[in-house]
Amino acid sequence: MTNLPLKCRCGEVTALATNVSPSSGNRVICCCCDCQAFARFLGREDEVLDAFGGTELFQMPQSQLTIQQGHDKLQSMRLTEKGLLRWYTSCCNTVVGNTVNAKMPFVGVIHTFIDEADRDKVLGPVKAVVQTQYAKGAPDYPKHSAKFPLGVTLRLVGQLLLWKLQGKQKPSAFFSDDGRPVSKPVIASE
Ligand SMILES: [Zn+2]
Ligand SMILES: [Zn+2]
Repeated sequence: MTNLPLKCRCGEVTALATNVSPSSGNRVICCCCDCQAFARFLGREDEVLDAFGGTELFQMPQSQLTIQQGHDKLQSMRLTEKGLLRWYTSCCNTVVGNTVNAKMPFVGVIHTFIDEADRDKVLGPVKAVVQTQYAKGAPDYPKHSAKFPLGVTLRLVGQLLLWKLQGKQKPSAFFSDDGRPVSKPVIASE
């Protein structure tokens, strides 16, 4: 277990992911169109997406992410009225992560917000590549690629239930106690 530093590009927003280990969350790559569109929305494809359009993220409990400074720079957006709530920093458009809502205990922290060059060491290897049907070109990921690999999906569902039982949706850096996002989401389709 270790505390993983998180930071935006310009350094105004800093945070900690506490008690992190390879088994404390899920390190995955998502190739879906929406994750690609989010990076495009911020003009950060080069930084966020890998050669096949994949976004690497670490799914972990919201309660284990603590903002140290720059909380007011956390900005949310949705690609559509009902989509995932996606987070970035208003100071420098660093892609931060994804949440569903205040009740779903997890946040998918995107690698651009992780201030650690050796992610393998802290988070272990990537466990799955999901939604590869939307990958660009001829995706050449290691063997674990699949739409939704069953093992990883079951693991995540199990973890979500456990985190929920443990109350790990709170405290949240992303939602206030009444369940509202800490910043009003920008809707990209508008
Ligand atoms: Zn910044
Ligand atoms: Zn995605």
